[in-house]
Amino acid sequence: MTKMIFNDQIMERENIVDIEDRAYQFGDGIYEVIGVYGGKPFLLDEHMERLQRSAKEIQLSLPYTMEQLRRNLVQLVKTNELDEGIIYMQVSRGVSSREHYFPGNSITPVTIAYTRAEERMSATEDAGATAVLVEDIRWLRCDIKTLNLLPNTLAKQKAVENNAIEAILHRGDTVTEASASNVFIVKEGELFTHPANNYILNGITRRKVIQLCESLGIQVHEEAFTVKTLLQADEVFVTATKSDIIPILKIDNQSIGQESPGKITRKIIQSFRSAIRELEKS
Ligand SMILES: *Cc1c(COP(=O)(O)O)cnc(C)c1O
Repeated sequence: MTKMIFNDQIMERENIVDIEDRAYQFGDGIYEVIGVYGGKPFLLDEHMERLQRSAKEIQLSLPYTMEQLRRNLVQLVKTNELDEGIIYMQVSRGVSSREHYFPGNSITPVTIAYTRAEERMSATEDAGATAVLVEDIRWLRCDIKTLNLLPNTLAKQKAVENNAIEAILHRGDTVTEASASNVFIVKEGELFTHPANNYILNGITRRKVIQLCESLGIQVHEEAFTVKTLLQADEVFVTATKSDIIPILKIDNQSIGQESPGKITRKIIQSFRSAIRELEKS
């Protein structure tokens, strides 16, 4: 049995949810999913910084320093002998008698983390997948990685019911992101993706792709685009931790480009894979 983190302890994995944990009742908390390759967490500092930002945005003060959290997560991966997979980590506001308002200073946030072994999705990355379009019905603070994921789960369920890998979200005419990943399109050799504002979650994979494109000499525009532009794109791909970069070949039964992973997308996938190989060798 693998171990878990409960607050600042590594312990046996067990069911310890309190019925009045605010994560359970209100989704009042934040989380991160961190990829692990060759026993090493990928872009851990970036994930820790985003966690800190999410915490600040919901006025939750993290009970541990970033350094402590970081050390515990690295130790958890070692203890669980995880080679390839993910760390799931969440911090809830804590346990208190159920009231909507914040309970004040008496409450201590509850931190949990566990690991899960997962294979890489290389085959899907090479073959591509399909997506569906779903209206983005989320609130106006999508930049916070909160535990409130009901609209995201409804969207993903619709994708699965249509044998698709993702639900691409749009607010009216504007494409925002996908249910659990960010969306990029390629138009005449250049990339477009929605700007990192309150309408999307600024993915760590998204940021890594933008950074890699700089060294590849591929121009990236952080600009919103319409559903029509999406459907007429030369290439489309989605990015997220662990699934990395998935080419999208069909959206709502409409073919994208040549219906096979495009040249630019493949170039970026290769570059992303070498960044992972570097981590594994380090
Ligand atoms: C986590 C998440 C992503 C992807 O972020 P990564 O840091 O790349 O894993 C994109 N969209 C939503 C809504 C998310 O929750």
